[in-house]
Amino acid sequence: MARLITRIAPDVGWLPISFANIYFIGRPGGKWVLVDAGLPGRANEIVEASEARFGAGSMPEAIILTHGHMDHAGSALGLAEKWDVPIYAHRLEVPFVTGRSPYPPADPTVGGALAFLSRFFPTRRRDLGKRVRELQPGKVPSVTSWKWLATPGHSPGHISLFRTSDRVLLAGDAFATVNMDSWSSLIVGRQRLSRPPTPFTINWDATHSSIKELAALRPNVIGCGHGVPISDTDLPERLEKFAETFRAPKRGRYVRRPARTDENGIVDLPPAPFDPIPFATAASVMCIGIALGAGYLDEKRQR
Ligand SMILES: [Zn+2]
Ligand SMILES: [Zn+2]
Repeated sequence: MARLITRIAPDVGWLPISFANIYFIGRPGGKWVLVDAGLPGRANEIVEASEARFGAGSMPEAIILTHGHMDHAGSALGLAEKWDVPIYAHRLEVPFVTGRSPYPPADPTVGGALAFLSRFFPTRRRDLGKRVRELQPGKVPSVTSWKWLATPGHSPGHISLFRTSDRVLLAGDAFATVNMDSWSSLIVGRQRLSRPPTPFTINWDATHSSIKELAALRPNVIGCGHGVPISDTDLPERLEKFAETFRAPKRGRYVRRPARTDENGIVDLPPAPFDPIPFATAASVMCIGIALGAGYLDEKRQR
């Protein structure tokens, strides 16, 4: 049976694909778009869920990527080909989703649960080919009540989507609603405004500025790329406080000096840190990654 999309605001649906979220903007019978495309190999699951919501054979107008990391763009090409639709990304993200450049490497030494697991994440370049289109300034294609904002820091061309009328924010990995640095929070999935996925974040000053900008929007509903979406009444104040007290990790490859990139990809990287964890030790906890990948978190949430 198809997994069901959960409504988090009018015409906004949420579907967790293992530990990464995707969102659907639009209503049955009308135009809709997919925001992010989940982990690789999940296209069928996404199609089934979208048909359960929008009707058999229903297709979106476009796929919009908040950024091109593997857990957000993994199934994008398969879906775009099946639906014959374009994939939109920010100009500065394009080199990383068209095979022109790899992303700056993850930093497994930055500390925390996800940093540990990041050693097992695939690092190959992603090429979504000719399907990729640059987002044009201002409006989100096909859903004109939404706008997009550049929210760099986690990745160079990261964007967030915002609906002004009722202040709904889809923030991708600009930040998260689960603390992925903590093993227990990661496994239980407890809601909490948190740093973006730490080992993959390449510019912490820009990350902080982006969070401040998003807090100034005073969103009532927040759906991020990771964690259960939040819609509490005190959310604008909580996000403001989070932005005020936000701190980068104490140490890490990109903490004092960011990775520099441009429209062709990587320009300059801080030196690679020494990684003291022997690979064999790390492999012994690989099963945790597998449990996450197998959808363990989804099972828990549905109970
Ligand atoms: Zn990311
Ligand atoms: Zn992510």
